[in-house]
Amino acid sequence: MAIATVNPATGETLKTFEPLDEREVEERLARAAADFLTHRTTGFGQRAAWMRAAADLLEGELEETARLMTTEMGKTLVSARAEAAKCVTGMRYYADNAEALLADEPGDARAVGARRAYARYQPLGPVLAVMPWNFPLWQVIRFAAPALMAGNVGLLKHASNVPQTALYLGELFTRAGFPAGCFQTLLIGSSQVERVLRDRRVVAATLTGSEPAGRSVASIAGSEVKKTVLELGGSDPYVVMPSADVEAAVSTAVTARVQNNGQSCIAAKRFIVHADVYDEFEGRFVERMESLRVGDPMDEETDVGPLATEQGLDDLERLVADAAGRGARVLCGGVSPDRPGWFYEPTVLSGVTREMKLFLEESFGPVASLYRVEDVEEAVALANATSFGLGANAWTTDEREQERLITELEAGMVAVNGMVVSYPQLPFGGIRNSGYGRELSAHGIREFCNLKTVWIG
Ligand code: NDP
Repeated sequence: MAIATVNPATGETLKTFEPLDEREVEERLARAAADFLTHRTTGFGQRAAWMRAAADLLEGELEETARLMTTEMGKTLVSARAEAAKCVTGMRYYADNAEALLADEPGDARAVGARRAYARYQPLGPVLAVMPWNFPLWQVIRFAAPALMAGNVGLLKHASNVPQTALYLGELFTRAGFPAGCFQTLLIGSSQVERVLRDRRVVAATLTGSEPAGRSVASIAGSEVKKTVLELGGSDPYVVMPSADVEAAVSTAVTARVQNNGQSCIAAKRFIVHADVYDEFEGRFVERMESLRVGDPMDEETDVGPLATEQGLDDLERLVADAAGRGARVLCGGVSPDRPGWFYEPTVLSGVTREMKLFLEESFGPVASLYRVEDVEEAVALANATSFGLGANAWTTDEREQERLITELEAGMVAVNGMVVSYPQLPFGGIRNSGYGRELSAHGIREFCNLKTVWIG
């Protein structure tokens, strides 16, 4: 894919960029390695001051940054502002808490015959972050804020369709006071990732994106014995049981499906509803999905903007056509409106069966599939019948059923009577083909640390 800003609402190419050449990549790697040597010894107080300054800068530039994201990948301006604000919160969270999250962990000195025994978290070095376009600021910040606070340095390979957001991020931390090598953007294509990942100065990698990209980066890193954290796709179930508040479940279901124009790894994608409340749920859900306003993402009234790329639209159309061709019912939507840009109507299908691509693959757009089940066993079995395991949503007020769903849903995260959302304070990540490792909270900041065991006799 060319490195370019192409407005998804019009299809117009606004700006193109040349990828870095070998000399430029080498310069950045050398700078990262050199600045790590000083950054790792900088105290938490200094890092926190820089991180807070970066948060203040972003807060002051929130509107321009939000407009840039909307222009590059089509999310609604309203949601882009919310994303930028969330980044500010995330940066301040790690500025305030990193020192406590990485404090020495005392061990049982007496049991091991020591005067003192503890474990200390220390930074590892330059970490490569391969990031996607869907939350172009937040996906990067949730890596960068903990990494920089831990004393690591970051190299960002952002998605090729968000180069201006990538360049903004590459300058933000330096403008806030961090040494220039602490966080750098590498404008490179995905074919150049291997060269960077194999470089001896790069010690680890994190990737958020598709399964094939994750497999490729993990296998290269594995052959170099470098740690990875992977946050790949999801096909999150949304289970609604008879005791649920159906109105609340419907209204949250719409948000959970169409957030970010349907392009979120933790968007609810498969709606699994108990027969007792199925008809009510289906009727209200379809009505809400049909009433969403699709249009210019810069317009404050728009609910659903375009998909980020033409390829994304093609992929979504292919999934729906496959399901409809094999007998699924399209209850609303199912078409791309006749206008420039990569728009797709909010779509609901029923009668989706396990051999359809829509069941097996991640639908990265505003397409929901509905399933009727007879009991909680069937709900759990269907929810778990996927190769993914990122998030899961469960609606029930019955406490025993809640406990059962929390235990039996095979996912990295479960939200009960709500939807899966990422918070700086809670771990975020998946199992199975959704990846491994965790971002955010204490777990995220510790992923790229050397947990050094100390024994003092
Ligand atoms: P990709 O996984 O292709 O892109 C994500 C990032 O990985 C980009 O920076 C991309 O660079 C890079 N990349 C792609 N292939 C490789 C590779 N072989 N080696 C190293 N880096 C690579 O996602 P797409 O944009 O193509 O979206 C395809 C599908 O992926 C979506 O429909 C969705 O299902 C899933 N996805 C999931 C996301 C999530 O949040 N979990 C986010 C985005 C996508 P470049 O842009 O230069 O290709």
